[in-house]
Amino acid sequence: MTTACYFDPYCIAHYPGPGHSERPARLCEIVNTLSKKSAFKKLQWPAVSPAKLEDIQLVHTKRYIDFVFSSVPKSGYQKIEVNEVVSEHDDGEVTTLCPQSGNAALYAVGAVTAAVDDVMKGKVTNAFCAVRPPGHHAFPDKSMGFCIFNNVAVGARYAQKHYGIKRVAIVDFDLHHGNGTQAVFEKDPSVFFCSIHQLPLWPETGYEQETGIGNIFNVVTKPNLPRAAWLKRWRQTVLPRLRQEDFDFLFISAGFDTHKNDQKGCQLLETQDYFELTADLLSIARDKCANRVVTVLEGGYNARASAASAAAAVKALMRVKK
Ligand SMILES: [Zn+2]
Repeated sequence: MTTACYFDPYCIAHYPGPGHSERPARLCEIVNTLSKKSAFKKLQWPAVSPAKLEDIQLVHTKRYIDFVFSSVPKSGYQKIEVNEVVSEHDDGEVTTLCPQSGNAALYAVGAVTAAVDDVMKGKVTNAFCAVRPPGHHAFPDKSMGFCIFNNVAVGARYAQKHYGIKRVAIVDFDLHHGNGTQAVFEKDPSVFFCSIHQLPLWPETGYEQETGIGNIFNVVTKPNLPRAAWLKRWRQTVLPRLRQEDFDFLFISAGFDTHKNDQKGCQLLETQDYFELTADLLSIARDKCANRVVTVLEGGYNARASAASAAAAVKALMRVKK
């Protein structure tokens, strides 16, 4: 048993247009690193199938799913996001489709459901899903922040529906608030969602008073927080709260835009910190959910920094012995 990386080339073919920061190179660099470096020679690469619409409907409305597929252009680009939230940090970029984007969105969700299948069936110890488009800003009925379908949210519901998982925990350490994931689960006691993110910053939600029905835990970090202070906040807030929760499956929404070299944010984490963050979560997962962990790529806009950070996270996953 080992760690597996779930990926499909369609996730690279998704191209929101020239100059868009959510660009294919983000994922190319991650896949190149994980497939070529000798440290990852034991990593498995199972085949991924497109998600079934009935599984996407565990989170998204049929009307929104139909809207997405009817919006996929035959050529060129089609914006599908109404840019409602504008802040000084907002660069004005929105979710945009190209002819391959419908398939990319299906394969991104399909990667996560395949990872859940293989973890639950004991075929792999744990998983990293190398996917785009990202998911954590996608709402049940709208796209936002480059996200089409909420990959992690579908994975959580899928684990519950198909494998009888009673309670899921999702920890999101992307620079930005996982507002879509929060919206999906904020009234659902069967899911605990924790997001640590920067404020002020787009999408300007995720304040600590947003607690859902007690199942949402938001941790705010200030811009330019010194690295040691960020890590202290993680250790003193996220980890103890996660230890208090009961869950049978853990998803990690892994965004690497808190890296010090990332152009979107102004946090100061270093590459090796993503090994530690992942290892911290894995040690709690060992006690709570028998190591059932699926990590899913969210943001991260410096391709080289994201690839090194993803590699650090995968190294932590590969260290788990079942
Ligand atoms: Zn982000």
